[in-house]
Amino acid sequence: MPLVTSEKMLSDAQAGGYAVGAFNVENMEMVKAVIEAAEELNAPVMLQTTPSTVKYGTLETYYAIVAAEAKKASVPVCLHLDHGSSFELAVQAIKAGYTSVMIDGSHENFENNIAVTKKVADVARACNIPVEAELGKVGGKEDDLEAETDTNTDPMEAKEFVERTGVLSLAIAIGTAHGFYAGTPVLDKERVSEIRKVVSVPLVLHGASGLSDEDVRECARRGMCKVNFATELRAAYTEAGKKLLAEKPDTFDPKKLGIVGMEAVKELVKGRIRVCGCVDKA
Ligand SMILES: [Zn+2]
Repeated sequence: MPLVTSEKMLSDAQAGGYAVGAFNVENMEMVKAVIEAAEELNAPVMLQTTPSTVKYGTLETYYAIVAAEAKKASVPVCLHLDHGSSFELAVQAIKAGYTSVMIDGSHENFENNIAVTKKVADVARACNIPVEAELGKVGGKEDDLEAETDTNTDPMEAKEFVERTGVLSLAIAIGTAHGFYAGTPVLDKERVSEIRKVVSVPLVLHGASGLSDEDVRECARRGMCKVNFATELRAAYTEAGKKLLAEKPDTFDPKKLGIVGMEAVKELVKGRIRVCGCVDKA
């Protein structure tokens, strides 16, 4: 079917107490793997690309690949701009056909974050495209594992932020970090429930690669309606290729590398969709 927006799939998830998996894709093989996994489990799914990914390809190229693959699928597929870094990029993504965008002003102060987010949300609303924003600091690859409680999202700020910007979903910081964890992250899961109580829009969990299944499940139960998985997909794809090359060093056809990469990503994504609880929610 044609691409759908994230609005209904996330509000359904919110009502149903589960989360939709959002998977970062880098190439055609990863797109096919994610959509096939969702199709096999009859799950709604979001595919997303970061600014560095759309710099590597282009918005138009990723849109064309995802739209073509989604057209063959019977489950709802949404294409989302992850961590949109500017008003301009968010608008370009909407023009290119993306059906959901994130504007990430979380590195700005509260008022500037509101200003840039509202600017994007106002334009996106006119195009019927839902906007995700971020408040609080999700750690980066270099960060320590200890939850930095002072950078976790404040519930009352979250409430004010959503009311003043008009965003349709909000990424909150609860102690996760992007990239892989070297140890066990300390998550403030109670914070999810506190924010859930005062914020009406679906909440989004970033930095889920490497979290335990139980952590992801509990976050979904407490109100996280979208869970992002990125790093572990890239690792699974590349590891499969490395394994093939180690076993068969004379491999020269990129399709052979693509096939093992797709299989690895598809299995991983199926596992994550199950953990999110969105099997048969298409
Ligand atoms: Zn993120």
